[in-house]
Amino acid sequence: MRYDYLIVGAGLFGAVFACEAMKKGKKCLVIDRRDHIGGNIYTYEQEGIQVHKYGAHIFHTSNEQVWRYVNDHARFNRYTNSPVANYKGEVYSMPFNMYTFNKMWGVVTPEEAKETIARQVAESKIENPKNLEEQAISLVGRDIYEKLVKGYTEKQWGKSATELPAFIIRRLPVRFTYDNNYFNDLYQGIPIGGYTGMIVSMLQGVEVRLGEEFLKERERYLRMADKVVYTGMLDAYFDNCYGTLEYRSLRFETEVFDTDNYQGNAVVNYTDRETPYTRVIEHKHFEFGTQEKTVVTREYPAAWRPGDEPYYPMNDEKNNALFQKYQKLAKKEEHVIFGGRLGQYKYYDMDDVVEQALLCAGRELG
Ligand SMILES: Cc1cc2nc3c(=O)[nH]c(=O)nc-3n(C[C@H](O)[C@H](O)[C@H](O)COP(=O)(O)OP(=O)(O)OC[C@H]3O[C@@H](n4cnc5c(N)ncnc54)[C@H](O)[C@@H]3O)c2cc1C
Repeated sequence: MRYDYLIVGAGLFGAVFACEAMKKGKKCLVIDRRDHIGGNIYTYEQEGIQVHKYGAHIFHTSNEQVWRYVNDHARFNRYTNSPVANYKGEVYSMPFNMYTFNKMWGVVTPEEAKETIARQVAESKIENPKNLEEQAISLVGRDIYEKLVKGYTEKQWGKSATELPAFIIRRLPVRFTYDNNYFNDLYQGIPIGGYTGMIVSMLQGVEVRLGEEFLKERERYLRMADKVVYTGMLDAYFDNCYGTLEYRSLRFETEVFDTDNYQGNAVVNYTDRETPYTRVIEHKHFEFGTQEKTVVTREYPAAWRPGDEPYYPMNDEKNNALFQKYQKLAKKEEHVIFGGRLGQYKYYDMDDVVEQALLCAGRELG
């Protein structure tokens, strides 16, 4: 059996590429080591609710072409991401906006909020921030930093904010309007019926084999197709010959509760240091669910070791330099295209992935 393309990974990148290749009459085989399609955007049904298995996923974009593309494969609902932050029982609106400032200081007008932030920034007397703590205080002042940034960031990275480099936070989005919409993008929503249905639509007519590990039988797979699209970990493809690219991982705990509404919002961030999880997701609110029960997931940040699920690339100097070395090797692999968040070692949102996959397909398929 011979294919034009072997696509390693049935995630969003692999699915978009396969869909485009099919349209051009190419014969594709998609394999994935997992027992399901969709990669990290996989959703499954529990208690009649679509559960985001690998963490909350909200599609948002300002790219017209990408929005039209995903709408060809799914109907999107009108979900608007408005997470709230819970700091020791005090609830604040996110992203930082006039509702947040009103709750924090009782201020009502944008001018009052700006003055308060400017005063706190001036009081900090930080001119050249040496670490993340100083950087954040110099951007938003001490109150917002202490209650809404410090604990969350320390949990996320597993380090004290004074040990973290300043560059992690280049800016902290602050909005002087009463607007809780987390994203500035033109379009956002969640596919009605979940993301898996969208991937099923993209992979219609494409041969898919699940539970297959490319790296275990690389030679056999390479012989099966003229070209390979590889969306797995870049360093693993080269047997980690220069060392291991590092990630930050996550652990999810999912529970069903016998109540129709557990927390009143899809996403609640826990911003104190003591609560071990960073976010609690109540999946039904992504789709305005009215089921009698509810499914809730707690998200715990975790150190990553080889073999764990890699979630967030650690794009610091050391890892970026290592990535460059692997990229040089990748360029020599003429019959292999490296794509997606793992193949490119970049944090990509879903719209970036669709854009990259369409660009890649355009270059490759004409
Ligand atoms: C917690 C979290 C929340 C996120 N939330 C959002 C959000 O709200 N909005 C947004 O736009 N984006 C979000 N993202 C980003 C989004 O998940 C990614 O953009 C998208 O899933 C990347 O798709 P991909 O195809 O590149 O990678 P993946 O989804 O990782 O797919 C790669 C696939 O390849 C398979 N594979 C890898 N190696 C092999 C191998 N050797 N053999 C066989 N199969 C292999 C894997 O099993 C996997 O299924 C979030 C990411 C995380 C981690």
